[in-house]
Amino acid sequence: MKRRDLLRYAAVLVPVLKSAIAGAEQKQPEIAFTFDDPKTDEGAGLSWQDINHRILGALAKHGIKAVLFVTGKRVDGEQGRELITAWDKDGHAIANHSYSHLFFNDDSVTLAQFESDFLRDEPLVREYPHFTRLFRFPFFKEGDTAEKRDAMRSFLLQHQYRVGRATIDASDWVISQRLEKRAAATPKSRPILLRRVLQAAHLGARTMLRFTCSPGTQSQHPPYRCVAPQCAQCVVPGSADPNVH
Ligand SMILES: [Zn+2]
Repeated sequence: MKRRDLLRYAAVLVPVLKSAIAGAEQKQPEIAFTFDDPKTDEGAGLSWQDINHRILGALAKHGIKAVLFVTGKRVDGEQGRELITAWDKDGHAIANHSYSHLFFNDDSVTLAQFESDFLRDEPLVREYPHFTRLFRFPFFKEGDTAEKRDAMRSFLLQHQYRVGRATIDASDWVISQRLEKRAAATPKSRPILLRRVLQAAHLGARTMLRFTCSPGTQSQHPPYRCVAPQCAQCVVPGSADPNVH
């Protein structure tokens, strides 16, 4: 290789290496916290203001910015605006979760009805400085037919929305419901929720690592497996997973 070619090659290689190193640094597992259906009802003997204050305080304490998916019918009033404003002022993203929280997989819920319910929520969220074009399907149901699903996806694209998915755990509401019933009598039940979320986050982190290993690299953590489809060099000795190569 001529010296001139070598210099040219090095000039290209250095930025590539730098970005590869930066990429490796970014592979640390991350978890996103999102909250659905804020409401101005009391729960577990606490006022909504108290609950809100506690959640926002915990997020601020740990330096976490979250996404608040708003269902219009639960906050369509002065107190509701007060609640969302508090999240917005703390720098959390405000997003759309429809107005009525319809079950899109019910065959009686039409596409037109679902779309208009989506649009009805917009005025309640779009004026906030931290409004973000994310839509979370109520109950995570994207339609009971391929036609409804595809049409709604196109509709969201037209309105420049992305889907706000949950990939680690979304069952906290079940636990919360049980805890709310029992909180007054057995305050010790609170750690159950924490334990459940931590377990789910751990599993989720493992899952994420399976998908974040780039082709040509080897997992730094033996329990975590790379299943990148194009990866020719990832090797996890002893793995029984047929997707692992
Ligand atoms: Zn919801």
